[in-house]
Amino acid sequence: MSKRVEISKVRNIGIMAHIDAGKTTTTERILFYTGKVHRIGEVHDGAATMDWMEQEKERGITITSAATTTMWAGHQINIIDTPGHVDFTVEVERSLRVLDGAIALFCAVGGVEPQSETVWRQADKYGVPRIAFVNKMDRVGADFYNAVQMMKDRLGANAVPITLPIGEGDLFNGIIDLMTMKARMFHEETLGTTFEDVEIPKDLKPLANKYRTQMLEAVSEIDDTLLEKYIEGKEITSDEVLKVLREATIKLKIVPVLCGSSFKNKGVQMLLDAVVNFLPSPLDLGNLVAHHVHKNDRVERKIDPNEKFAALAFKIMTDPYVGKLTFIRVYTGTLKSGSYIYNSIAEKKERIGRILQMHANHREDMDEIRAGDIAAIVGLKNTRTGDTLCTEDDPIVLEKMAFPEPVIQIA
Ligand code: GDP
Repeated sequence: MSKRVEISKVRNIGIMAHIDAGKTTTTERILFYTGKVHRIGEVHDGAATMDWMEQEKERGITITSAATTTMWAGHQINIIDTPGHVDFTVEVERSLRVLDGAIALFCAVGGVEPQSETVWRQADKYGVPRIAFVNKMDRVGADFYNAVQMMKDRLGANAVPITLPIGEGDLFNGIIDLMTMKARMFHEETLGTTFEDVEIPKDLKPLANKYRTQMLEAVSEIDDTLLEKYIEGKEITSDEVLKVLREATIKLKIVPVLCGSSFKNKGVQMLLDAVVNFLPSPLDLGNLVAHHVHKNDRVERKIDPNEKFAALAFKIMTDPYVGKLTFIRVYTGTLKSGSYIYNSIAEKKERIGRILQMHANHREDMDEIRAGDIAAIVGLKNTRTGDTLCTEDDPIVLEKMAFPEPVIQIA
């Protein structure tokens, strides 16, 4: 079994996007980078100059799982598949229930499209903190600033750029990082897998300064101490910006916006850093709120592996090798393979056989999973999507509280 990270270093995220914005490509690139770093160390070493597509083929990256677990910068990122099409509202909403934060993906040419608006509103409804990624900066007609403006106008988002593109279309060859005030320049021949962090080009300095100031103003508005410093013209450190920006993102007050081209492999690592830096861990979102079956009342539980167990079954899939897989999101407590658990909707006990965590190109058998985890259980007999798994002596129901209106009809 691999080393477990602390709960504060877990990120359960989804990628929300209009169809064709590049969700598949971005997910594949994320898995490429994360898997690669996990296996052979730094990305920008010699091996990275190998032809990218060849590596991708060799590794057989697959993203067909309902949830894929991967590692980045000492953090465990679980990517939960969110259906792109809006017709399956129940599925979309259930996936929003099990993730803690999301990357909202936009196309740099189309900006905010009607479908992105629908998904955005759903995420608002369920209070999902977001960072935005303006993808396809390499396309003719790409316009980062227009996409940001559309997020403000159409979505009412407090969209705050934290990176800026250097060039667009064929000339998109770098990204300015407004947190560090450095420029990342990509080497064209290696599809963005090699790059250098250098000084911001002179001619772009005024633009970078303007957007850095906007970013500082946005965080100052959220935090009184920073506001005071800002007004007095005192220096605000990157750590201070990061901390307040993180809090503001988690409280849905700011949407940090990044740019890149997942197809060209540019900006994806910065996006991963932003996932770790700005999106919440399972601990950041407060207590679990559920409905207690016996008391017929609301209960709260701490997000803690030592609490009583509670998990939501959110997806059932058939795997050609192991059979029926029930994907669950664990909110509280710990579950061991070989133990028994109670399904409070079916009112039946279930035996827990194998517990699997799905990675891009392998499955990992887990002895136990705990608060914050996402995993698949093999062979559950009576559990359907939307069901709660919990302790029999203290049964609770999760989905009823999350969806007080009759939007969810469990078939
Ligand atoms: P999804 O429908 O959101 O999953 O989108 P895909 O990842 O399948 O991408 C849709 C199309 O856009 C494919 O032809 C991709 O190759 C292309 N694409 C994705 N990302 C980029 C990008 O950054 N730049 C360009 N030029 N094309 C991209």
